[in-house]
Amino acid sequence: MSKVGVEMTKPVLVIEDLTVSFDGFKAVSDLNFYLDKNEVHVVIGPNGAGKTTVLDLICGKTKATSGTIKFNDIELTKLKEFDIVRKGVGRKFQNPNIYENLSVYDNLEMSFPRGRNVFGALFFKRTKDVEDRIQEVAGMIFLTDLLDTPAGLLSHGQKQWLEIGMLLMQDPELLMLDEPVAGMSVSEREQTAQLLKKISQGRSVLVIEHDMEFVKTIADKVTVLHQGRILAAGKMDDVQNDPKVIEVYLGH
Ligand code: ADP
Ligand code: MG
Repeated sequence: MSKVGVEMTKPVLVIEDLTVSFDGFKAVSDLNFYLDKNEVHVVIGPNGAGKTTVLDLICGKTKATSGTIKFNDIELTKLKEFDIVRKGVGRKFQNPNIYENLSVYDNLEMSFPRGRNVFGALFFKRTKDVEDRIQEVAGMIFLTDLLDTPAGLLSHGQKQWLEIGMLLMQDPELLMLDEPVAGMSVSEREQTAQLLKKISQGRSVLVIEHDMEFVKTIADKVTVLHQGRILAAGKMDDVQNDPKVIEVYLGH
């Protein structure tokens, strides 16, 4: 029997002593990082701090030199990228990876786990659970009225949402997004903040972002990276008043 409210839940993602060196240059150095369920954690820091490299390490695009990345007790550093996706880790890159000639609906359908390859997605029978999931995700990403529109005709912000939706079709437990609001309008940023809050329910969300107003709205926790190391971590209010953070990042 668990004691509700007393029992501490284990972090979903546990990163310890993580280091990657590229020809002797340590892009990430002795990183310790923990992420809980229902948490939106934002990583900030100057260009070249190692933020994108951390996501590359988690999703298996880059192999660690040393250290561990445990996702629900599964060691990710030993797995291939597609296996890491199958374990429930979804990652959005900076440029949307959508099929411009296909409708919003078809892009979402294609991303449903059963329809992952092109032929499967085009020919498998539209069962009710796929249809329901598409409608649910389309609502979350503000594209219900544009399901029949070719993805190529969407605005920049809508394309970003569609790609988030495509990741949501796979119902990942951990969702990682690299600068999701870059190039978005003010109202698109506000909607994206709502979206990230909503999708963090029952999941973990790891975001890299520069826009401090946006970070303040969404972040449960903030980690500041500098030269591959953690400069500060905690609640936004504490981090933004930290003299070290102001000096290297927020001060200019
Ligand atoms: P950020 O996302 O914080 O701007 P990055 O993680 O992209 O920073 O890069 C951190 C540093 O690591 C940079 O100096 C970058 O040039 C270097 N780097 C990143 N990936 C590689 C790679 N695959 N090979 C060599 N150097 C890399
Ligand atoms: Mg980057």
